[in-house]
Amino acid sequence: MQIIGLTGGIGSGKSTVAELFAEQGAGLVDTDEISRQLTGSGGAALQALQAAFGDPILAADGALNRAAMRERVFSDAGARAKLESILHPMIRRDCDAALSATARAGHPYCLLAVPLLFEGMSYRGIVSSTLLVDCPVSLQIARVTKRSGLAEAEVARIIAAQLPRALRLQLADQLVWNASDIAALHQPIAKLHARFTRG
Ligand code: ADP
Repeated sequence: MQIIGLTGGIGSGKSTVAELFAEQGAGLVDTDEISRQLTGSGGAALQALQAAFGDPILAADGALNRAAMRERVFSDAGARAKLESILHPMIRRDCDAALSATARAGHPYCLLAVPLLFEGMSYRGIVSSTLLVDCPVSLQIARVTKRSGLAEAEVARIIAAQLPRALRLQLADQLVWNASDIAALHQPIAKLHARFTRG
């Protein structure tokens, strides 16, 4: 089965675009969603994360306190490496299982959403091509502050830690431009869906 790597900066509209492809019949595996399951209440990664980082990184309901964890790794490269060494292999294992399930379900192709696809090598080897969702940085900031309640400066900090847009644009095989309304996405997505379905 053809696997298309879907990526884009935070707030570019990856999840929105992914859902529109899924409505057309594409298979969809989202590494961010897998990560949230692993670190949400009762998640399989929590015990190892608690052992490594202690109780302060847990929220009252026992799930990972994402803001506390983000704070911890922003200022400490060693902590980031430790977090990744725990979480990344678990995400990859669940991702491979989800991709196999998608293939068995008979989807014509599968979108694999990886926010940091171009920042690391681990998923680039398994995708046959890449699809970038892009929009101006000012729009990314506006969308994410509205969605999450994070402060503008915090969102800008997250964006600064991701690959610059210009580089992502150079690396991607296909582009979905998402600077207008959701309705404007339907036609380009239908076209790409037809192309990916032909293989
Ligand atoms: P990502 O997955 O890349 O972080 P999302 O798809 O979650 O981005 O989009 C971020 C926010 O912006 C969401 O609240 C989403 O509903 C909204 N959004 C995305 N694209 C559009 C659009 N074209 N028009 C209006 N709102 C949008």
